[in-house]
Amino acid sequence: MAEEIREEQPTVATREERTMDENLQVLYNLQRVDSKIDHFRRLRGELPEEVRDLEDEIEGLRTRVANLEGELQGGLEQISSKRIEIRAIENQISKYAEQQKNVRNNREYDSLTNELEYQRLEVDLRNKQIRDIKTRNEGVSRQLEVAKRHIAERELDLGVKRSELQGIIDETEKEEAELRAESETLQSKLPERVLQGYLRIRNSVRNGLAVVSVKRNACGGCFNRIPPQRLLDIRMQKRIIVCEYCGRILVWDEHAEDEE
Ligand SMILES: [Zn+2]
Repeated sequence: MAEEIREEQPTVATREERTMDENLQVLYNLQRVDSKIDHFRRLRGELPEEVRDLEDEIEGLRTRVANLEGELQGGLEQISSKRIEIRAIENQISKYAEQQKNVRNNREYDSLTNELEYQRLEVDLRNKQIRDIKTRNEGVSRQLEVAKRHIAERELDLGVKRSELQGIIDETEKEEAELRAESETLQSKLPERVLQGYLRIRNSVRNGLAVVSVKRNACGGCFNRIPPQRLLDIRMQKRIIVCEYCGRILVWDEHAEDEE
C-alpha cells in the first residue's frame, strides 16, 4: 500500500516540493472535514436505531396490555355468568325446599334432601371458581400495571431520543451539507492518484482515518513508533509517507499534541 501512493522524490524544482506539501495540507484538511461528516453519521447512526428499538418495544408492550385487558375482561365475564348460574341454582334450591315441605313420603323427602345437597355443592363450586378467577385477575391486574408503567417509561425515553435525533438532524443538516461541499472542493484539488489512495485507505481502516498526525513520535492511527529517519522525512513534508504498520498517511502537525 505504501508503494501505491508514494510520490516520487522530486529531483529538481522546489515548486514540486511545495506542491507535495500542499497536497499533504489538503489531505490533512480533507481528513478533518470527512471525520466531521463521519462524526455526524455516527451520531445519527445510533439514534435512529434506538428510536426504532423503543418503538418496537412499546408496540410489544401495547399488545401485552391489550392481551392482559382481554384476560381481565374475560375473567369478569366469567364471574358474572357464574353469578347468574348461582342465582338460577338458588331459585331451584328454594323450589326444592318448598317441595320438601309438602312431601308425601320419606323416599321423596330423602330424594329432595340429596338434590338440595347436590345443588348447594354446585353453588359452593361456583363460589370457589369465582374466588379463583378473582385471584387470577388480581395477578393479571398487577402485570397490567407493570406493563403500563413500562410503556410510560419507554415513551418518556422515546420522546427524549426522538427530540435528540431531530435536534441532531436540524443542527447538522446545514453544516453537513457545507462539509460535503467542502470535502468535494478539497478532493478536486488533489491529483486523482493521491485522492484514490486516500479513499482506499479510508475505506480499509476501521475509524475512517486515512490521514493521521504524528503524536509523541508514533503513528496517530495505530500508535506504533516511527523510526527517527522516517520522522525527519515526515517533517520535511516533501512526499507522502504512510505508516509501515497500518498504511495511514502520516503528516506532521505541531498542534496535534495539544488537541489531546
Ligand atoms: Zn500506523
